[in-house]
Amino acid sequence: MSAPAVFRLPTLRAGARGRILSGMRPTGRLHLGNWVGALRNWVELQDAWENFHMVADWHALTTATDRTEEIQSNTYEMVLDWLAAGIDPAKSPMFVQSHVKEHAELHLLFSMLVSKARLERNPTLKDQVRDLGMEEATISYGHLGYACLQAADILLYRANAVPVGEDQVPHIEITREIARRFNHLYAAGDPVFPEPEPLLTAFPRLRGLDGGRMSKSVGNTILLADTPEEIFAKVRTAYTDPTKLRKNDPGHPEGCVVWEYHRLFNPTGYEEVARLCRAGELGCVDDKKHLTQIMVDALAPIRERRAALEKSPDYVWDVLREGAKRAREEAVATMERVRAAMHLVDPKGGGN
Ligand code: SF4
Repeated sequence: MSAPAVFRLPTLRAGARGRILSGMRPTGRLHLGNWVGALRNWVELQDAWENFHMVADWHALTTATDRTEEIQSNTYEMVLDWLAAGIDPAKSPMFVQSHVKEHAELHLLFSMLVSKARLERNPTLKDQVRDLGMEEATISYGHLGYACLQAADILLYRANAVPVGEDQVPHIEITREIARRFNHLYAAGDPVFPEPEPLLTAFPRLRGLDGGRMSKSVGNTILLADTPEEIFAKVRTAYTDPTKLRKNDPGHPEGCVVWEYHRLFNPTGYEEVARLCRAGELGCVDDKKHLTQIMVDALAPIRERRAALEKSPDYVWDVLREGAKRAREEAVATMERVRAAMHLVDPKGGGN
């Protein structure tokens, strides 16, 4: 399997252990793109960093307001994949965003520090609106403000870093702006919030089997939970070099999805695959069988752990309950500092 994918780390105080907040909307079973772009980095980072992993269920409501009945089962399946991929809940608490109400409180306070125009300029929001075919006038108040909620998610844990793909860097920039503004207005001498940095991955995006953007709704994904037979059937459909019609035709691996997957799963063999392809010594059918075997072997530990975890269906809920307890401790401590810095009335009575 390929090397760790993180390539840029923030500078920390000597001796300090960095903290990461990462989240995913509950989308159910995860696919290879989720694993490459996020999950395997979370696993790699969990020994050196203090990681908080959040199921972003409130964020799911911004674009799936009419599909809330899927949130519970999607949460269950997704967290099962997190655990199967190797995230250790003893090291890295996993929790559901809506179980830690302080996210909502901090979101409200931050919403006073960011302008509507700034949120409207968020390029990721524009992309989402375009992808969903929405009219700008129909964007909800919550959807417009989701970058502000994301800032609250990250800063509630005073995270130094957030593992993201390139397309999410603008979110982190809004978070940094809000942190700066809060510290400047209320905590100049003793900043409450760090300015978190994005942790970018060297292999941030894997294309779908058809060569397009990987998406379960398109049906061009391989799921981490797929059986060897399912992987084989899916890889057989993968997009290859359309000019290579016969085994002996010289091919062009660049642009071929099968070769892209070789680069990920077959780091010591992908150059030889490219050579054989270009020389007309390898056919696509044989190469797809070869890739399938490599992928089946590479994903076997995840598949086996998942199957074992499925035998204890309550385990996922226990992990999330325990994770919420740990997350809440941090969240409560941050909100005490926030309220004190803002001179809000102390809920325990008296001033602050
Ligand atoms: S031989 Fe392999 S790398 Fe070359 S075009 Fe076919 S599938 Fe792609």
